[in-house]
Amino acid sequence: MDSKLQEIQKMIEKMHVELLHLQFVDLEGTLKQLTITVEQLEDAVDGKIMFDGSSIIGFAPINKSDLYLQPDLSTFSIIPWTVENGYAEARFLCSVFNPDGTPYEGDTRNVLKRTVDHAAKMGYQVYLGPELEFFLFQVDDKGKPTINTVDQASYFEPAPYDLGERVRLEIYRTLKAMGYTIEASHHEVAPGQHEISYKYADALGAADRATTFKWVVRTIARKFGLHATFMPKPLYGQSGSGMHVNVSLFQNEQNVFYDEYRKLQLSKVAYQFIAGLLENVKTLTAVTNPLVNSYKRLVPGFEAPCYIAWSASNRSALIRIPAKRGAATRVELRCPDPSANPYLAYAIIVSAGLDGVERELTAVDAVDEDIFHMSPAERKRRGIASLPASLEAALALFEEGHIGLETFGEHVYNEYVALKRDEWDRYRTAVHPWEIEAYQQKF
Ligand code: GLN
Ligand code: MG
Ligand code: MG
Ligand code: MG
Repeated sequence: MDSKLQEIQKMIEKMHVELLHLQFVDLEGTLKQLTITVEQLEDAVDGKIMFDGSSIIGFAPINKSDLYLQPDLSTFSIIPWTVENGYAEARFLCSVFNPDGTPYEGDTRNVLKRTVDHAAKMGYQVYLGPELEFFLFQVDDKGKPTINTVDQASYFEPAPYDLGERVRLEIYRTLKAMGYTIEASHHEVAPGQHEISYKYADALGAADRATTFKWVVRTIARKFGLHATFMPKPLYGQSGSGMHVNVSLFQNEQNVFYDEYRKLQLSKVAYQFIAGLLENVKTLTAVTNPLVNSYKRLVPGFEAPCYIAWSASNRSALIRIPAKRGAATRVELRCPDPSANPYLAYAIIVSAGLDGVERELTAVDAVDEDIFHMSPAERKRRGIASLPASLEAALALFEEGHIGLETFGEHVYNEYVALKRDEWDRYRTAVHPWEIEAYQQKF
């Protein structure tokens, strides 16, 4: 028998696991789960657990809704907060399959797997290190989230100004128990804003971890009577929450972005990858920045990018090359935000970069000056374009580019466009408090 499965069975016995949560994500990356009893472990591992996909966003139509869950054994984990009175619950992340045993085309985890396979065919393993920021808000006496932050602290401030320290400690302990290697944590720039960074992983592992991270952070925050949100810009006039994504490519255990003899010690492949990201970034923003609200973060002055440029140092650039070299050489894409579906976001980021490698594109020169303070004329002279300024603009560019359809396949591509068009329409036709304020008296 599979040794991983044996290990899991031992753990299940030792911890007296009663329930297994079979988890997967919908089109937006929202975690879903079907709970079974532990006696059904073998059936689950054999891919025999069926569910009805008709009410999952972006999934099957009602006439073709029988789908199967295939647990990924590497994602098994005891759920730390369920360990109580000698019993526990555990979870697996799953991929979704059709009744005929083929991967279900509407499952975004399958989309990322395909992208990883494509990279492997080109000879590359992809490693990703995302950094997810989030806010902690107070809840009212009915348990509804307010927009009052937990504290008024700012960047890197310690307690007693930082009132999220205990929450971050508990999140840290929980993630550690679930197998994460935590690197650092700190209070971010905005009041009530935090970041906890953990070790990079292979692309699929990174998306699984990002998905799990959001679930853990929300759950632990609730234990403290708080609401954690990964919404990109909850507070006007304050920094928003990003999900910077650090990417590196490996070949035979070697980081192929590193070349000690070339400019900035970056390899030809690294420059091609950067060029691919720059060329395709307008196509991918609708995915890495999927909400109406995402575009309120991408404005000057808050360390979030709005112009399309790269730099080895500059935090106003869209792509930054962190100082580390050798095995740690990586390209940091700074536009994504944590409301994105990690599977789709990572798939399209990797496709965008690899497109540059496949087409052997050359990267334009780096821009090391502060772009936020350049005049529009200066930016024009230097050919620095802007990221799309709204979900609507981003969607139009997503449909114009080629990597969206290629990466997602027809089902996910169509469902994604339809979902986001609908979201934009609902926003566009709503009358917002800002309009009442600005127009009702005056006109
Ligand atoms: N919060 C910033 C963003 O929106 C990032 C700040 C930082 O991590 N230096 O991307
Ligand atoms: Mg960071
Ligand atoms: Mg940060
Ligand atoms: Mg960063």
